[in-house]
This record gives sequence, C-alpha cells and structure tokens, in this order.
Amino acid sequence: MELINRVGRVVEAGKVDFLERPLGDPAPNQVIIKIVSSAICGSDLHIFKGKHPSAPLPVTIGHEFSGDVVAVGSEVGKVKVGDRVTVEPVIVCGKCIACKTGNYGYCENISFTYRKGDGAMADYIIAEEPYVYRLPEHLSYDAGALIEPLSVAVHAVRRADIKMGEKVLVIGAGAIGILIAALCRKSGATDVGVVDYSHKRLEMALEMGATFAVNPSEKDVYEAVYDVTGGIGMDKTFECVGLEATFNQAMMTLRKNGTATIIGIFENPNITIPATRFITHEIKVQGSQGYCWDFPIALEMTKEIDIERLVTHTFKLQDLQQALETCLDRNSGAVKVIVHP
Ligand SMILES: [Zn+2]
Ligand SMILES: [Zn+2]
Repeated sequence: MELINRVGRVVEAGKVDFLERPLGDPAPNQVIIKIVSSAICGSDLHIFKGKHPSAPLPVTIGHEFSGDVVAVGSEVGKVKVGDRVTVEPVIVCGKCIACKTGNYGYCENISFTYRKGDGAMADYIIAEEPYVYRLPEHLSYDAGALIEPLSVAVHAVRRADIKMGEKVLVIGAGAIGILIAALCRKSGATDVGVVDYSHKRLEMALEMGATFAVNPSEKDVYEAVYDVTGGIGMDKTFECVGLEATFNQAMMTLRKNGTATIIGIFENPNITIPATRFITHEIKVQGSQGYCWDFPIALEMTKEIDIERLVTHTFKLQDLQQALETCLDRNSGAVKVIVHP
C-alpha cells in the first residue's frame, strides 16, 4: 500500500501551497509517523514572511509535531507501530568531532528536517529512529507537539545556568519566552520578569510561573528592573525577540558580571550595541540554538509544567494559510497555534 502525503510549504512570502507525493517505504532505520498535531513555530513565521536567514523559498515548514507510528524499518527496535511519538527534528552528520564527542548540537553540518524537504505540516513524516521519542501517558498529542519548543527553552535555561535565588528577566513572551520563564522558576530563580506588549501573553507567562510582568507601553523596563533589584540589575536575562532594542535591553538590564542569553532570530542581524558595557560591567552575552540532549529533559519537565496551556488556536491542515496569518496577527492573542491534519 503506497501512502500519498500532503505537504504544506511556503512558495513565496505570505503564501502556502500543498504538494502531494508518494511517501515510499521506510529505510531500515526509519519510522513513518501519521501526524496528529503540528504546531507553528516562530521560525515558520520568519519563513512565511520570506525573511528566514537560512531557509530560502520554497521550503516546507513544520517541525513541532506528534503522531502515531504507522510503519517501521527492519532495524527499528525503539518504537513500534501504534506508539504515540514526537521527533527531535535535527539532522547531524555523526562524523565530525562535535558529533563524535556527543556534542551534536555543534555538528559542522547541522540542519533541520524541514529544510531538507520534510516538513511536519503534512499527513505523514519519515523520521530516523534515534530522534523518535515515545510520549508519556499523561501527554496529549497537542502537548506532544510542544516538546520541541520546550526543548529549545530547556537548552537556553541550562546554558544560562540558573541558580537558586537569582533574578531573571525574559524579554519577549512568545511560547519560548513563557517556557523559559516557567523553567527558570522551576530551577530556583525567585524573581522572574517577562516583558511583552501583549497583555494576553503576559497573563499567560504569569500563570505559568513568571513573578512579574512588564508591558513597555505602560512601564519603562529599566524602571521595573530598578524596582525589583534596587538598581543592581538582573543576574540573568534572555532575549527572545530578535531586535536591536531588545538585545540592548538584555545587556543593559544585567547586573555586573551577569549573563544574557540570546535566542531571538534576527531578521536584521547587523545591530548596534553598547560595547563599553562588556568592560565596565564585565557582562557575558551568549547565544542558544536548538537542543542537544534536551528532549529527554523536556519530556521529564512536562511533569512540572503544563505546556498544553500555551495552545490558543487550532486549525485543520487545509487551513494552514489562515493558521499562519493568525500567528502574525498581533491582535489574535496567539501563543501556540496547532494544526491537525
Ligand atoms: Zn520550533
Ligand atoms: Zn557532525
């Protein structure tokens, strides 16, 4: 029986279409998954706008998903037909020094499945066995689709090395920012602020663990940080927006010797920053991308954090265009939009 697959892709800025193509049989180490829930990610939106720095159009989209295993290759032992699963959508070479020392996040040839033609805005997807994870009983399919963004947040919070009693500021309360705030609280941070222009997003961040919220249209961010730290500054900040102004905030709200972690995607990557601050305050600024052994931790953390609360909208796969437009609509209050094939 040959399965025909519908795959959504962005053909030009602001426009999606669907390809239909036969799926083929799984290779010995491959797993075929019938997708049940597929979430839209910020990076999908950068692609939809035609502004993703490393994904030229046309490109398939979708890499946050869950579903049922419907076929397995001859050598697959980790999962079986009928299992509920999610997938770490990374492609690494397995041959470079980074891969050989277990640091596959630093693979010289790293890529992501959707960039290689297999997006998850589709009926089916083929995955390699090592990257397939079984969903625990307590997780719904929608929650299972959010293990990927949770892993991104886990990676960032682990890199930031959050400690008990620390004060943290998260700039940008999209899904990643909200999850970072929640994880910082669980890691022992006592003051966790979030900054965003959307009341709905700030409210959700507070429900998920943030201790204070700042809407810059009502209160100056620096003033809010002053109030919480007595003018000393935050121990750690996270930039989850990708703009010059917020990068500057992430640097300038830090205390001396504090650490900023940058996660936002910069559509305009050449920005101006206050370089003197590195010296006068001995601050550190580091980036965080993707994940490396973070999926198993994220799956554990679902016992602590109710990720399904992030889901604000659901659509059918054929309404992908509308789903993407809803995400871009500032007034929609969208945090996580899920598509069901
Ligand atoms: Zn994502
Ligand atoms: Zn490699």
